[in-house]
Amino acid sequence: MRIDLHTHSAVSDGTDAPAELVRQAARAGLDGVALTDHDTMAGIPEADAEAIVQGVRLLSGVEMSTQRWGWSVHLLAYGCDPANDALTRELARVRAGRTDRVPAMVARLTALGLPLAMSDVAATQGTVSLGRPHVADAMIAKGYVASREEAFARYLHEGGPAWVDRYATPVARAIDLVHAAGGVAVLAHPWGRGGQQALDESFLAELAADHALDGLEVDHPDHDDETRARLRRLADRLGLLVTGASDHHGLGKTRNPLGRYTTSGEVVDELVARARARGGSMERV
Ligand code: AMP
Ligand code: ZN
Ligand code: FE
Ligand code: FE
Repeated sequence: MRIDLHTHSAVSDGTDAPAELVRQAARAGLDGVALTDHDTMAGIPEADAEAIVQGVRLLSGVEMSTQRWGWSVHLLAYGCDPANDALTRELARVRAGRTDRVPAMVARLTALGLPLAMSDVAATQGTVSLGRPHVADAMIAKGYVASREEAFARYLHEGGPAWVDRYATPVARAIDLVHAAGGVAVLAHPWGRGGQQALDESFLAELAADHALDGLEVDHPDHDDETRARLRRLADRLGLLVTGASDHHGLGKTRNPLGRYTTSGEVVDELVARARARGGSMERV
């Protein structure tokens, strides 16, 4: 059983429409795929319809922008009721923060000698969750940088010259919101890209004990082998489920091909069962 539990479509900062992503998952020989766009579930219905055509299992998800002490933390939420009021409102607030900061980033880049207009950051049709990768794409189109990677490394990284902060949900509150919406909560790439700062072992223990965090995404392209081994031991100690996924972004992150990492069938079954027990659903019923 090969199930990739973390992917992005052009509804956020992936490069393929949800249906195309599902076709690629089928072509890659995956049994299942979770669509986990940033701060939106808007791509799920399209992906689900194509999944029926392709005979692939589509799991519903969203990657929430959360934070601890201002440090960015990504939380994968699976099986939430898309109509849940509190969660819907919180996601809308986060997306508004994403959109609102783009003019400030454009102004910074222009001041740095890389003139950009808001109209250059015209995301792909269907994008509802704007992010730095869309600014990076505009920079690539202007010939300022060669890749999203280069745009992040030189200008857009946290604390970088063109970086602008935005609202994100406190991570413990996000976990509570997910559970109240019938979903399950798995921390995305917890120790990737300096994440260990925000998510030290004692805080992870606290999230597990006091907020019933469900799992850790251990197998992820941003974790080296040693990090994965350490996280696996920690998850075992804290009684957390272990997931693996590609964090596929289409052409936007070439290191992350679909199915690069997958999650065991037993863990997927457990996530599905927990969502069902909480009143949510990871799959159409
Ligand atoms: P934002 O959503 O605006 O906070 O931007 C973060 C997004 O950019 C995440 O989806 C990351 O996957 C992506 N990202 C972060 N660092 C890089 C990088 N070095 N190259 C390409 N994409 C990146
Ligand atoms: Zn992304
Ligand atoms: Fe992420
Ligand atoms: Fe992601």
